[in-house]
Amino acid sequence: MAELELVLASANPDKAAEISAILELVPGVVLHPRPASVPEVEETGDTLVDNARLKAFSLVEAIGMAAVADDTGLEVEALGGAPGVYSARYSGEHATYADNVAKLLEELDKVGADSPERRTARFRCVAFVGFPDGTEVWADGEVMGIIAPRALGESGFGYDPVFAPDGHGGRTFAQMNPEEKHRISHRGRAFRALAGRLGAGGGST
Ligand code: IMP
Repeated sequence: MAELELVLASANPDKAAEISAILELVPGVVLHPRPASVPEVEETGDTLVDNARLKAFSLVEAIGMAAVADDTGLEVEALGGAPGVYSARYSGEHATYADNVAKLLEELDKVGADSPERRTARFRCVAFVGFPDGTEVWADGEVMGIIAPRALGESGFGYDPVFAPDGHGGRTFAQMNPEEKHRISHRGRAFRALAGRLGAGGGST
């Protein structure tokens, strides 16, 4: 197929690095970095798809090229699906990753979720491409797991130190190397599915 040129809409350097690493393995996609001059858009949507669309099309409008974005949420069952779409600002508007992890562990303590069965969670990611003619293509990916009792591991970002995906011996994403995380993660699955829908390589989730 012809090369598909996409500009990365994510302003979060950790997510941008992961999306680049995942899409690097997809033949036919050429990824361009986000231009620093374009301001970040406020994530005012009620769903992951709405927020991914906002991010992608704000960049399409600014630069006139196809743009790729993701929006991600961690849904914890004992907390009624929180933090979900509010994952980035769970403990406040300018929350750090550590603040959000601390708040999550506190909230689970408050509801007495002290066994693995009560700490089930899933990460969901929507991978989204917007085109200058207004058309869009998106796909989602998810991974089930549990919230660990305390932060473990140094890799990754965000909630990785407390998210232990099912079937990996209780190791958290932060205890895995990037390739291992991308093989099973919400983001890896969403972007490989997106590549399949765009007609690029990948396909399987
Ligand atoms: P958003 O997609 O930028 O709204 O991301 C929401 C928040 O979820 C981020 O600020 C991170 O704290 C967290 N997050 C997103 N992706 C991941 C991931 O792959 N691992 C751990 N945390 C993540």
